[in-house]
Amino acid sequence: MAEKIKTVRGFRDLLGEEAKKYRFVVDTIRKILQRYNFEEIILPTVEYTKLFTRSIGEATDIVEKEMFTFTDKGGRDVALRPEGTAGVVRAYIENKLYSDGIYKKLYYEGSMFRHERPQKGRYREFHQIGAEILGTTNPLADTEVIKISEEILKTLKIPARIEINSLGCKKCRPAYRKAVLEYLISHKGELCEDCQRRLERNPLRILDCKVEGCKLIASQAPKITDYLCDECKTHYGSVKKYLNALGVAYTENPRLVRGLDYYSKTVFECVSEELDKTVIAGGRYDYLVEELGGPPTPALGFAAGIERLALLVKELPKEKPLVLVIPFGGEKEKIHALRLAQTLRKNGIRVELSYREGKIRKQFEFANKIGAYFTVVVGENELKEGKYPLKNLLTREERKLTLDEIIETLRNL
Ligand SMILES: [Zn+2]
Ligand SMILES: [Zn+2]
Repeated sequence: MAEKIKTVRGFRDLLGEEAKKYRFVVDTIRKILQRYNFEEIILPTVEYTKLFTRSIGEATDIVEKEMFTFTDKGGRDVALRPEGTAGVVRAYIENKLYSDGIYKKLYYEGSMFRHERPQKGRYREFHQIGAEILGTTNPLADTEVIKISEEILKTLKIPARIEINSLGCKKCRPAYRKAVLEYLISHKGELCEDCQRRLERNPLRILDCKVEGCKLIASQAPKITDYLCDECKTHYGSVKKYLNALGVAYTENPRLVRGLDYYSKTVFECVSEELDKTVIAGGRYDYLVEELGGPPTPALGFAAGIERLALLVKELPKEKPLVLVIPFGGEKEKIHALRLAQTLRKNGIRVELSYREGKIRKQFEFANKIGAYFTVVVGENELKEGKYPLKNLLTREERKLTLDEIIETLRNL
């Protein structure tokens, strides 16, 4: 036997129920985004590495240790995208989507890659669907982005708490950063090893640390909300007011800082208690477009982890009942069955045409194995009569019906 080839370490197949849940999550979110008038953007998987080092930030875990980078045959330093926002912003600038002066609402979907140590439930390729709004400072946009996340969770019947915070702006964040840094330095000895390192490179990340000792220190740290400038305070106040007006339940979490460097003002996370993980997250990034060479463009967005959400989906929508059409006899019967199956499908019925040969008993075994609800046998007698036995495999009831009657019976199920 030839050598079997397996999936690459950290990669996997999604099959059966898992694939169905994956597709259900994506379809549900796409429908919601389309109702909010987001337009799809289909992005490349490979980008220049510097797009991510400049947007996500040098001192983040993603860029420091998790990027899937390589040099292509033309000597270019490229990376498999670790997230979607940077690509959307790159596309927005490159295609001058700002040129008509109107804000843009875009969504994307697809594979993301992070070169992490493979562990249970964590793979190097995962999938996200996300949306971005570019070109508005209006807090109505922040509100709707959070509302969409709530709607996604409700539609998928996934319980999660929504946490929000404001990270301030260029005017007010430096003072906060300074206060946090002073506070953390005074507790340096109590921080974990990772956080001691973060102290120099990215102190705000310490507030996100999951180590108990660090969590305790973080809980006493200065709050950004005490440092917000008037503009940020007003903006954050409006977002909360609008969320209240829509009846969106949220909690304020002044320690919520998000992992990426590019956020400003509103940030939020939807956390599943069952997984103890964030399933949807997002926020504003008012400086990113400019930092990547575009015109000053305030923007915001969110991304949803498809696998994580799929894991929490308990029930899939019911599928249409499957009908197995069984040709029984020679060429004439096969051609008739082939056509009959087409007619049923044209009427919206889910049909499998049996490719199995052999005894009728074997055909019914096959029908059970593939989960068919009904069978229709097309044999010599049926051709003569113009009537076919429609059998319900659950009730075992069988009725001889014309093609029109079969369509009528099955279409409304
Ligand atoms: Zn501010
Ligand atoms: Zn720590």
